[in-house]
This record gives sequence, structure tokens and C-alpha cells, in this order.
Amino acid sequence: PTKDRVFNFAAGPATLPERVLAKAQSELLDFGGTSMSVMEMSHRSKAFDGIIKKAESDLRELLSVPSDYAVMFLQGGATTQFAAVPLNLVEPGDSADYITTGSWSDKAFKEAQKYCRARVAWSGKSEKYTKIPAFEAIEQDPHAKYLHICANETIHGVEYKDYPTPINKDAVLVADMSSNFCSKPVDVSRFGVIYAGAQKNIGPAGLTVVIVRKELLGKAQPVTPVMLDYKTQAEGGSMYNTPPCFTIYMCGLVFADLLEQGGLEGIERKNKEKARILYETIDVSGGYFRCPVEKSVRSLMNVPFTLENSELEKVFIEEAKKEGMVELKGHRSVGGMRASIYNAMPLAGVKKLVAFMKDFQARHP
Ligand code: PLP
Repeated sequence: PTKDRVFNFAAGPATLPERVLAKAQSELLDFGGTSMSVMEMSHRSKAFDGIIKKAESDLRELLSVPSDYAVMFLQGGATTQFAAVPLNLVEPGDSADYITTGSWSDKAFKEAQKYCRARVAWSGKSEKYTKIPAFEAIEQDPHAKYLHICANETIHGVEYKDYPTPINKDAVLVADMSSNFCSKPVDVSRFGVIYAGAQKNIGPAGLTVVIVRKELLGKAQPVTPVMLDYKTQAEGGSMYNTPPCFTIYMCGLVFADLLEQGGLEGIERKNKEKARILYETIDVSGGYFRCPVEKSVRSLMNVPFTLENSELEKVFIEEAKKEGMVELKGHRSVGGMRASIYNAMPLAGVKKLVAFMKDFQARHP
């Protein structure tokens, strides 16, 4: 790696593979002999058509997306999908179940209430969002049209290790995978809709990937803005209007890089190893560092932790920064620290962090 690049533990926008950035840099002024940058290109050009098609086919290969699913590259962030999901899947009087395991699924639930009878089938709020419910604990409405989950809560650090199934066999499972997208293999066929903002695991901000089972297209509420209508977007190849061309290109480079590394099984193994050494360091610290999340559902991507002596947290974050490890401050709503260790965080970054943690504990007993 370049000597002066920091280890960036930000939750998103987040660190990207240096190989990918270097490739983008090498093509910045002249993409593929076009003598122009991807940023300057018509989205209807042959060169861009090649870029978006390759990005889609590489993503399909990575996640083994079945052919009866549409893959869309949209704008508006995952937050826009909080509205798009109910607008596309249900009518205003329909019921939809939400499992609220943290801030993001809670936001999704609150937005959905505007467009349907959204209800909470389980909430982790009273336990400070440190758990994922057992299947039996989820109080599903047998008439709900879909069950919505957040696969990985970026702020609270809880992650599903297995997914629930809607009890209504005509209902579909919907998942916000923003912060663990492409971090491990996923059986796409279990879901009706998967959506993910790009700016954590797969690229810069500005793109939201939406994967939808095709039989769900064409049922949007009449008031649905055309930009949010999955059918329009799927049929238009994500080009009903001008798509986020450069971000799509960057994500395409990341997908190609993940394939070159051998795909998501290997990526998951690496992510597990990084998470293991970090949680282990927290757990063997004798309570000096603490992670509130139940062990079986700890996130492989976002590791929240606190210091027993909370006054030292500021010192910890400042000292780490001086050592070239940045963005370790926890989300403003929960405080403490958070290390986001997405795909692009090298093992060396986590090793450096845990060595620093041990040293910090020794120096500030
Ligand atoms: N869902 C999750 C799990 C997130 O981490 C985020 C983070 O920003 C969002 C949704 C919101 O995404 P966006 O900012 O792209 O709208």
C-alpha cells in the first residue's frame, strides 16, 4: 500500500481497495481508448453500455443472482428504498411486517408507515438493539405482504446469521443489505427484494443496488414517483433517466476485483478472520473494552465497542488517529467507538488496531 494512506474505519463512505482506486486513476483521462473520462461520457454511449452491462453481469456472478431477478442501479440511497419498498409491493391498506433491530430498520419502518399498515413484528429497542430475534419470537401478521429486515445494523453492530421466513406463504422477505452487501455469499432466492447503498462495501456514494424478483414488478401504487417504480427502472435497464455513471463504473471495478479474488466465499473467510481477532481482543481485555452485542449475532462488518472508563474514549480515538487509524468514533447516537471493517479493510489494518488496543490498555490501565 501507499505509505501515507491511513487505515480508514469509517462506516460509509468507507475505505475502497487501493487496487481499484489505482485502476480508476489509470483510466481517469482515457477510458478504454475513448480519450475521455467515464465522467464525461454519455450514458447512452457504447462504452458506457459495456460498463453497466459488465457491472451487472459480474454482480450476478458474484451473488449467483437467479435469472428471474432484476438487478437495478438506482439513486437516492437506501433511504429512498425505505419508501420504494412499500410503494412497489403493497397497497395502502395492506399490512407489512418490520423487525426493528437497530436505527436503520426502525427508520425503514417509520417511512413505510406513510404508505401502508406497517407494523413492528419484533423490536430490539428495549434491549438497546443488541439482539436478533429467534424465529419463534417474531410476531408475524399472517396477512402481512412482506417481512422487512435489516441484514446488518451499521450503527448497533448486529447481523443476521440466518434469515427468517414470512409465515404468509404469499409474502416475501425484504432486506436492507447496505452494510454487508457482497461481504459473504447470500441465497438471493430467499428474498423478494434486496437493496443496498453502495458506499460501504462496493463503491463510492451515489448508487443503490436493488435486486427484485421479477414477478413483483408492475404492482406499484399509482402515486409512486416514476423514479421509484421498479418496473420502469428494470425495463429501462436502470436508465429511465441519467444513472450515476461514474459510481456504477467504480462499483463495477469492485465487483471485478471481488471476482478476481475468487468470489464471496473467500471474502467471507477473510472477513470472519478480521472480526474474530477484533472481538477476541475486546473479550480478553477483562472488561477494559466492551462490546454490548450478543456474541452469536455480532456483525462481521461494524464492531461497536466502549471503554470501561468512558473518559478515555476521546484519548483512544485521538491517539489512534495519530497512528494512522481514523474514523473510529462511534455513531453520534450511541457514542463509544466503532470499527467498520468492510471487505476493503485489510487484515493488516485490523492487526494494527488490535496491537494498538493492547498497547493502549497497558499504557492507560
Ligand atoms: N441502511 C443501512 C443499513 C445503512 O447503514 C445506511 C447508511 O447510511 C442506510 C440504510 C442509509 O443509506 P443512505 O445514506 O444510502 O440512504
